[in-house]
Amino acid sequence: MITFIDDDGKQEVWTKLRPLFVSKNIPCVLAISTGLIGQEGYLNMEQLQDLYQSGWEIASHTKNHVNLSQLSRKDQEYELHESKKDLVSWGLGGNSLVYPYGEYNLDTIKLARKYYDSAFRATRRGESRLPLHQYILNRDALGTWTRKGQDTLGFYKKRVDISKKKGRWVIFAIHIADTSEIQLDYISQLLEYCIEQKVDVVTIEEALRRKRNQWYEKLDCKKKTYMLNVFCFMHISALKIFRGIKKIGIFIMRRRS
Ligand SMILES: [Zn+2]
Repeated sequence: MITFIDDDGKQEVWTKLRPLFVSKNIPCVLAISTGLIGQEGYLNMEQLQDLYQSGWEIASHTKNHVNLSQLSRKDQEYELHESKKDLVSWGLGGNSLVYPYGEYNLDTIKLARKYYDSAFRATRRGESRLPLHQYILNRDALGTWTRKGQDTLGFYKKRVDISKKKGRWVIFAIHIADTSEIQLDYISQLLEYCIEQKVDVVTIEEALRRKRNQWYEKLDCKKKTYMLNVFCFMHISALKIFRGIKKIGIFIMRRRS
């Protein structure tokens, strides 16, 4: 099972991404900052409605495309709640959230759980285990923000193979406005490959429906909240330690050079 999520809702979605997906009858997910819709360079309401009607899913990317980890809890809540309200009032669903710049903290996750069914971070490779990862879902960079050696068609295809072989949910992150012509061609060929290999390309909502963990569903609400809280706390702590070590590493390298 594969999901493609494009971030930011730029005009290139309409001119470059839409032709690729619509011609192959494959759905894509758009993560949009609702405050930017209709502004120069971004999709307008008519285009959004058209894409939604053709089976695409619209997710929140906050109201103003801000780095949530640097905001107070109150300001974070404003960004998450307002964009949710916009999407609902526009009749575009909006059950999922993509963290701008992939940045978040413990407050962000708690608030995401209050307003959304799932949330995604940026471009970190790896499949996600539901439901524990439901608010820290990993995405593979596709076309932009890729790591060295991870930007070839062969590499992308391998990710599709893993999804097929192991029954995992692989989620690709696209930034179409910054995607080169070569990478655009790779995306087109990757879509063809998904069709050839008979791997389902689905929206987030459909993926969550299919991947629902029955064991977890049976737990009462208190136990679910407890488990998620413990997991998220451990995740954020590990992230802080990792970032701390990285900073120390950079400091030492600078002093040496
Ligand atoms: Zn973004």
